[in-house]
Amino acid sequence: MKLLTQAQIIERLNTNPIFSLIGDTADTLGVECYLVGGYVRDLFLERPTNDIDVVVVGSGIDMASAVTERLGRRQAHLSLFRNFGTAQVKWHGQELEFVGARRESYSHDSRKPIVEDGTLEDDQNRRDFTINAMAVCLNKARFGELVDPFDGLLDLKDGIIATPLDPDITFSDDPLRMMRCVRFATQLRFQIEEETFAALERNRERIRIISAERIIDELNKIMLSPRPSIGFVELQRCGLLEIILPELSALDNVETRNGRSHKNNFYHSLEVLDNIASQEGSSLWLRWAALLHDIGKTKSKRWDPVAGWTFHNHNFLGEKMIVPLFRRLKLPLDERMKYVKKLVGLHMRPIVIADDEVTDSAVRRLLFEAGDDIDDLMRLCEADITSRNEVKKRNFLQNFRLVRQKLKEIEEKDRIRNFQPPVDGEEIMQRFALPPCREVGELKTALKDAILDGIVPNEHDAALQFIRERAAEMGLREV
Ligand code: ATP
Ligand code: MG
Repeated sequence: MKLLTQAQIIERLNTNPIFSLIGDTADTLGVECYLVGGYVRDLFLERPTNDIDVVVVGSGIDMASAVTERLGRRQAHLSLFRNFGTAQVKWHGQELEFVGARRESYSHDSRKPIVEDGTLEDDQNRRDFTINAMAVCLNKARFGELVDPFDGLLDLKDGIIATPLDPDITFSDDPLRMMRCVRFATQLRFQIEEETFAALERNRERIRIISAERIIDELNKIMLSPRPSIGFVELQRCGLLEIILPELSALDNVETRNGRSHKNNFYHSLEVLDNIASQEGSSLWLRWAALLHDIGKTKSKRWDPVAGWTFHNHNFLGEKMIVPLFRRLKLPLDERMKYVKKLVGLHMRPIVIADDEVTDSAVRRLLFEAGDDIDDLMRLCEADITSRNEVKKRNFLQNFRLVRQKLKEIEEKDRIRNFQPPVDGEEIMQRFALPPCREVGELKTALKDAILDGIVPNEHDAALQFIRERAAEMGLREV
């Protein structure tokens, strides 16, 4: 990161004509006005942003109205939020947020503060981190002047997240800031300053007054970072994870018996998540599946004197944990949840197949169950191989290539992916003059199994032939 001189700041501000226009407007109204928060931080980090936050020492609403007049009502769209004393102007894809400088005081049981008009200093004091509390003046006489009372610029240079005031007060006032702290550390790959971190530990219980929606919003931002593990390690270290995601936190242990240890499944899960996150275009939901793929391991862990540590059926136990977990965290309960559930439930299958002989019928069944999510499932399984044993790792990946190859062949030959049986229940009922009944169901299941096992080709005539034979065995007559 570069430390910019005022001349350089001015140069950057001048690439967008909006800033001098805002400054002129403020001069006309006779108020001080500053660019503040994330935009200033990202100006130094050279991260492009369209969210522009402006603090006015006076009325944010008057200022926003005057700026909208200047930009022209056809071009700029103004929204007023009188209750909050803020106003938003949308202009050419940019969102300008105007707020009057304010002073906030909090009561213990709520993160909603009592708000009063204040000075720029008051306004900077209420901000979450030093790097988010810098202001740049936009008035003509002081255009581009940095107001940085907490040395946010130094922290930005050193890569440090620290609160402007006593961190116990900052976090206790609004505990959401604890999640933001970890989120910024993850997105920017910054260190959390020691005192700030200690306050995370001390104030962690306060997170309980924050709604699940806000927590998940921050958690998803951590998930979508290039290396999400950074955030989860910090959340675990300070004890927040145990409160918000105890199922994951519980995986952080290693037990040893008779000199045999199992791996730490928390760190393993994070490694899988990072593997997925490093892949181009991996979705939020594939990342969630990666993070949660082993959460069934706590309940399924057993010690066997011969086999050592086992986690039989952890995929099925994990699959069952997804619905309550998504419900509690206020994650969506629609097809996105079903997708995560499916991947968690199926994540052992390709490994089992690859470990054994890769038969057509095993691959066909896998394709049938995974459907269109087969590619994501294979990506998850490959990311799941975190063994340090290079030979073992190479063998698995080699076998996965075999599974993928077979998947492709069978897909081309049998079109199993979105499997529809070539002879359906309707046809069976008509041919054998049956009402909907048990026999129809049995014939359908037998046909499906036969096709998935490769006994019958996935074609109408062959399927009908099979059905006829089975029906005859069952004593059914064709009409
Ligand atoms: P990003 O937009 O990438 O999430 P940001 O820093 O712009 O990062 P916003 O949520 O857009 O974050 O908030 C803008 C600014 O408002 C922040 O930079 C910070 O100064 C202030 N802010 C936001 N939320 C809080 C909070 N909970 N407590 C204190 N200050 C906050
Ligand atoms: Mg922002």
